[in-house]
Amino acid sequence: MYLNIKDVDKSYSKEKKIIHGLSLEAEKGEFLVIVGPSGCGKSTLLRMIAGLEEIDRGIIEIDGQVVNSLSPAQRDIAMVFQNYALYPHMSVYKNLSYGLKNRGFDKGLIEQRVHEVAKLLQIEEFLFRKPSALSGGQRQRVAMGRAIVREPKVFLYDEPLSNLDAKLRHQMRIEIRKLHERLGITSVYVTHDQVEAMTLADRIVVMNEGKIEQIGTPDEIYNTPASVFVAKFMGTPPMNIFQVKISNGKMDFLGIEVETGSSDDTLFVGIRPEAIQDEESDISIEVAVTMVERLGSENIIYGECMGEQVIIKSKKTPSKNDTMQFYIPKESIFIFS
Ligand code: ADP
Ligand code: MG
Repeated sequence: MYLNIKDVDKSYSKEKKIIHGLSLEAEKGEFLVIVGPSGCGKSTLLRMIAGLEEIDRGIIEIDGQVVNSLSPAQRDIAMVFQNYALYPHMSVYKNLSYGLKNRGFDKGLIEQRVHEVAKLLQIEEFLFRKPSALSGGQRQRVAMGRAIVREPKVFLYDEPLSNLDAKLRHQMRIEIRKLHERLGITSVYVTHDQVEAMTLADRIVVMNEGKIEQIGTPDEIYNTPASVFVAKFMGTPPMNIFQVKISNGKMDFLGIEVETGSSDDTLFVGIRPEAIQDEESDISIEVAVTMVERLGSENIIYGECMGEQVIIKSKKTPSKNDTMQFYIPKESIFIFS
């Protein structure tokens, strides 16, 4: 594996461990997206890979070399942050060339690289402007350019798009993915945004409280979530979760009996809002509508069903206090212990 993180622990103080025995691998050229709630340790993990934080235990290997004791510069890694941290007094050209100059590249090569990267990112016409004369999206491109120009072994991104508005975020997301397909540099991308994770990743790493909940392709994470946490975190609106009693290994959920093979006495049943449908199917539910959110192409219906809150994605537009019939196909039910 090109990037190999083995059994790493990290704490900032004696009282509290932040990262717990975390292991993670990335193939050369792979785009990994780390996703998880705020405070779960995503930035800490990136900073440890970059060498900006020491690790308490474990090994970090890049391209076959243990880098535990190497400085950030020696690791040959580039990092893109949410606050782009461009040098405000330098032109775009200087911002792009600065790192190469520091590394002693010759002038001709610097010029060639800067122009190649500027062309790739479509910022050629801004090369001699200061960052203050650029839009947010253009600045973000310069920040990416500064990372790319060095042709690092690994790219690390820490929520690079979270300061941009929704439209620009969408556009930059597509650009980052295209760029990755052209350059093929091994990347670790941190976000708390599950849509970014789904659309950018070769594999998604779902983190929770300093541990990995699940690693898998976007498809695997969405279709076979390993835990209630993953199921609720990936998907908007989040999956509906019902707690269900088990007797004799059997679960009786809305009249459907399921052999669970489990010795637990309660399980969790999950149903995605988009799996609840109008057309007649295995399970029928009655929903008392409490609120409807119109999204244009469809609606999000909030309601109550057997004393539980449910969220449904639907083309229908009921009114508040309506009672409506919906259906759930058996195969779209998730069961979690
Ligand atoms: P995320 O990026 O997922 O939001 P962080 O890695 O920034 O999470 O933070 C994880 C935890 O570590 C948080 O509880 C945070 O307060 C704590 N933390 C982060 N950096 C430091 C630091 N330099 N010193 C002390 N605690 C820190
Ligand atoms: Mg962070």
